[in-house]
Amino acid sequence: MRLSGTREYQLLKQLAYTRLAGTPEEEKAANLLAETIREIGLTPEVDIFDIEDAKQPTATLTVTEPYCKTYEVTGYKCCKSTPEGGMDAPLIYAESMLDANLVNAKDAIVLVQMPLTVEKYRRLLKAGVAGFITMGGDYYDNPKDTGIVTRKLRKTMTVHGLTSGAHIRVKDAMEMVEKHASKIHLDVQNENEIRQSRNVYVELQGTEIPDEIVSFGAHYDSVEFSKGVYDNGSGAVILMELLRYFKENPPKRTLRFHWYGSEEIGLEGSKHFVKTHEAELEKHVLMINVDMAGPVLGRDVAIVTADDSLRVFTDYFMKTRGYAVDVAQRTYSSDNMPFADKKVPAISFARLAAPGAGYYHSKNDHMTFMSAETLLKTTLHVLDFAKEMVNAAVFPVPKTMPEDMVKKIDEYFYKKEFKEAEEKAQKSQ
Ligand SMILES: [Zn+2]
Repeated sequence: MRLSGTREYQLLKQLAYTRLAGTPEEEKAANLLAETIREIGLTPEVDIFDIEDAKQPTATLTVTEPYCKTYEVTGYKCCKSTPEGGMDAPLIYAESMLDANLVNAKDAIVLVQMPLTVEKYRRLLKAGVAGFITMGGDYYDNPKDTGIVTRKLRKTMTVHGLTSGAHIRVKDAMEMVEKHASKIHLDVQNENEIRQSRNVYVELQGTEIPDEIVSFGAHYDSVEFSKGVYDNGSGAVILMELLRYFKENPPKRTLRFHWYGSEEIGLEGSKHFVKTHEAELEKHVLMINVDMAGPVLGRDVAIVTADDSLRVFTDYFMKTRGYAVDVAQRTYSSDNMPFADKKVPAISFARLAAPGAGYYHSKNDHMTFMSAETLLKTTLHVLDFAKEMVNAAVFPVPKTMPEDMVKKIDEYFYKKEFKEAEEKAQKSQ
């Protein structure tokens, strides 16, 4: 069987629409993937799971002193609602979130720069703020064709406590600061809600060593206002092409192909898989993740979240075959992480766009900077690497996670902070 970049590109075109976690559009994409698997002659499994989300919050922001103007904002999902009808509070611009910025932050609404990290969020809570406003987009955005994204407070934040939050355009934030807005009226009403998301799975039984499993993963959901072709329709279609190959060329080990939903809201799909297949994970000897490929201008990378010997091997392998793939050992913020956290060695492949020649998490994530040829280019070395692993006489990757990787993975998942929140909750009981 010949791999086909054109076939990948055609499938990608069919996926090129916003596929937000837990929406009918995400479901439609899951159905397309399942349908394609059936066309290949295999039986997919669609695994439906709950995600904690919220209805679209309502939010208004009006500067009341020293001038009067209402700005368009979005409310943070899963944040604390303001009292009904809103609240009046002083506005403070905490540019660096240093102590000096936060002297008068108690009961004030604080304007902060992105990214809103867990650390920053905890500092806001500690300062006793009434709420916060983050800013996003680009100064040169035309409000007519760019909406304001709706952000969400993740569990890594809400576990420490709740406050009210809204998101505003950079240009409007600039105007507020320039005109010394000192008092504002903020009204945010949030209602949490459980939604359903989907993972799509299919398995190919190994012909010789069926008890060892190599699992392939790619998320297929997208963020708001993005068609999500680069991130990560591309990985989803590459996985499909790999599936076609291994269907025709039966592997020695068992292969599981996973298309994950809800990656963009906190790796929910892969976390769900790992949680519900705890016993089976014993058999997973490697997780191969593909997240972002296809830009014409770009460079290929492989990121190893596993023992360093896998990095060394992968680097040698790419070199001996003449593939220009930059190999590194570190964490990669994608579905590889829940696996690595369970000590399953993981490797993520990506083609990173050249600066200015590709966009993700953006309305500019389009087919225009992608090509069938470059999709295939990445697919070829991923397949070559996968063949080597899947059919190895003895599986060479140790199923251990080095200490420094464990530390980085724990940091990535904010384990220390979660523990602190838990201990605090226990004490106050
Ligand atoms: Zn992604």
